Amino acid sequence: MQSKGERKTLGVLPLIIAVVMVAAGALIVANNSVWSIMRADAEANAHSWGSFLFDDVPAIDDVIAGRVPLENAVAYMWGRNEFGTLKRFRVYDKTGIERMDSAQVDFRPIRETTSPNRNPTAAKVFAENESDFTFHDDVNEQIVDDKVVRGHTYTAHTLVPLIQGDKAIGVLEVISDETDNWKALRSKFEWAGIQIIGLVVLAFMLPGFLYMRRTGQLEFTTNRLRHTVEYDALTGTLNRSAFTSLLREQISGANAHGLSVAVHFIDLDRFKNINDALGHAVGDQLLAATAQRLRRVLGTRERLARLGADEFAIMQPFHPSATGVVEQFGHDIVHEMARAFFIDGSEIQIGATVGYAVSPKDGETVDEIIRAADIALAHAKSTARGEAEAFDPSMEAERQVRQHIEARLRHALAHHQFDINYQPLYNIDGKELRGFEALLRLKDEQGKPISPEIFIPIAEEMGLIGAIGHWVLEQSARTAREWSDDLIVSVNLSPLQFQTHDMPQVVKSVLEQTGLPAHRLELEVTEGVLIIDTDKVLTALREIKDLGVSIALDDFGTGYSSLAYLWSFPFDKLKVDKSFMTDLAVEGSKSREILATIVALGKVLDLKITAEGVETKEQIEVLRALDCDLVQGFLYGKPLDSDALASLLTDRVQKEAMERASQRLQHSVGKASVVRKLA
Ligand code: C2E
Ligand code: CA
Ligand code: CA
Repeated sequence: MQSKGERKTLGVLPLIIAVVMVAAGALIVANNSVWSIMRADAEANAHSWGSFLFDDVPAIDDVIAGRVPLENAVAYMWGRNEFGTLKRFRVYDKTGIERMDSAQVDFRPIRETTSPNRNPTAAKVFAENESDFTFHDDVNEQIVDDKVVRGHTYTAHTLVPLIQGDKAIGVLEVISDETDNWKALRSKFEWAGIQIIGLVVLAFMLPGFLYMRRTGQLEFTTNRLRHTVEYDALTGTLNRSAFTSLLREQISGANAHGLSVAVHFIDLDRFKNINDALGHAVGDQLLAATAQRLRRVLGTRERLARLGADEFAIMQPFHPSATGVVEQFGHDIVHEMARAFFIDGSEIQIGATVGYAVSPKDGETVDEIIRAADIALAHAKSTARGEAEAFDPSMEAERQVRQHIEARLRHALAHHQFDINYQPLYNIDGKELRGFEALLRLKDEQGKPISPEIFIPIAEEMGLIGAIGHWVLEQSARTAREWSDDLIVSVNLSPLQFQTHDMPQVVKSVLEQTGLPAHRLELEVTEGVLIIDTDKVLTALREIKDLGVSIALDDFGTGYSSLAYLWSFPFDKLKVDKSFMTDLAVEGSKSREILATIVALGKVLDLKITAEGVETKEQIEVLRALDCDLVQGFLYGKPLDSDALASLLTDRVQKEAMERASQRLQHSVGKASVVRKLA
């Protein structure tokens, strides 16, 4: 394949060749013209010198005949020896024998027939009646200021027939110095040559220029078109299809050269919220700024693309021996994205999560590697937000499990296949039942339970928690409505429900529909609920509390445990996380002291303290010593399904009835003994 540069050179090449050829032609023409001008000039000079000789030197025919003329004629001729460019002349007879040489230094220029010096050229000139011209370039060296200076002397030798009347009688050879003539003509013709070349170049350049302009425009349009097809208009990065085809080329090229290619998938963490809150214009600016940021981490070989709304990808070719470069690159991306953006006067803290995979290790084809990077990103998003995570084959299995759970959740919601178990809550003495905590249950197709700790976060991510939470609330309220009036039901709420729903309104309508008195409903929230938009959530919680519903702070001691929350909101109850119970048995743990502090704090703030996860007698002893209020745990009762709940409640009713009967009996027995005593 030809590169763009090669194509351009090929286009210009014929133009250059044409110009060079025209220039060379012009030089040859100039040279020839100089030559023929010089020749014509020299011949004309020789002829006029010849007629001068006949006109002014009457003895010339004597000379040709080999007779020595009169002394004064010789002297006259000698006086004409050097004249203008004329340097020397010779006279030959018709057979070419030299009869006279103006340069003979012995003042006897005339040759007598005794020593004939024959010039065949002269004989030829006479015989053919045609002049002869030769041009000599002699290099001479002169010493000027101790330096050798080379110079040229150009001499013309012109042989013309000597004509008397209209008859040739001999041959005249004229030797003239043409150096100045030659130089003058040369420079004139050279200048003319340059002008011709200039004109030719111009003549060629105009169409050439137009041609280049056209091809340039064509290339520009082609590039523009390619840009629109291959690049994302908003961010100027490659788009998905260009990225995949580039990746395909890279992978096959890299495999051939023993190289590896990493693919990093980058997802902006809170882009949707920002887009919703600040508007699409800001969202667009943020995406463009993100691309700008990501370009900062690119080296010369990495390529950036935008794959979807807020999803970017970077391809990173690397040498397999360079361990850690891919990991480092992933961290660099996260680090770069962790800094705040400033857009339209707002400071935006967004952050990104990265999942990456490496070819050929994690996949040999484009599809495999993209899938692997996608899995790594999905994994990172659910377990390691704001970090970079490498693909691991175990994620594949996890993903399948997750997809299965997602399907189960959708199905269960549509077909009412969730269950609720109820775990009893007791007074610290373990005798008085106070109510139940509603705990959601979901089974897989084989009837095996899926832990809510697994499916609830997935439901939250899927955006189903609002609907599910509403169902739990309504169902628990309906169930609790059937219990005796002194029992409460405690329902867990996800922080997300406060973001997506008007919770006070939801609670109010559930109470109305089920007829459960508000004081018998308790809602459990975790500190997580207070992290986002604290004021809004606090207001909602207050409105719920105003309905007469009580609010418990769940899993206390595990989260941020900011005391500020406790001051700013009047919770009714603290549920101490079950990890404190497990820790009690651990030697050297401060669990007991912390529990003591929490209980003391509860007393000051007038909060009831519930201990969760109570499993042993040792734990209950500690809790009693600390004067905890309520307990919940396997020691007192596991979460119960509806049958188990029904029998517990029936037992309770029977037990209470029996207790009441025995109290009555004791009462009447007591009365009888008093009567007997009195009697
Ligand atoms: P949680 O609110 O802290 O619920 C208490 C969890 O501790 C329950 O687990 C319960 O079965 C378990 N537990 C009770 N006593 C003991 C004990 O003595 N020892 C041990 N080891 N565990 C005990 P479960 O039912 O698996 O629920 C787990 C979490 O799922 C709950 O923690 C709660 O955060 C969430 N969850 C359950 N149901 C719902 C619901 O309807 N809505 C929401 N939003 N979350 C729920
Ligand atoms: Ca709870
Ligand atoms: Ca809890």
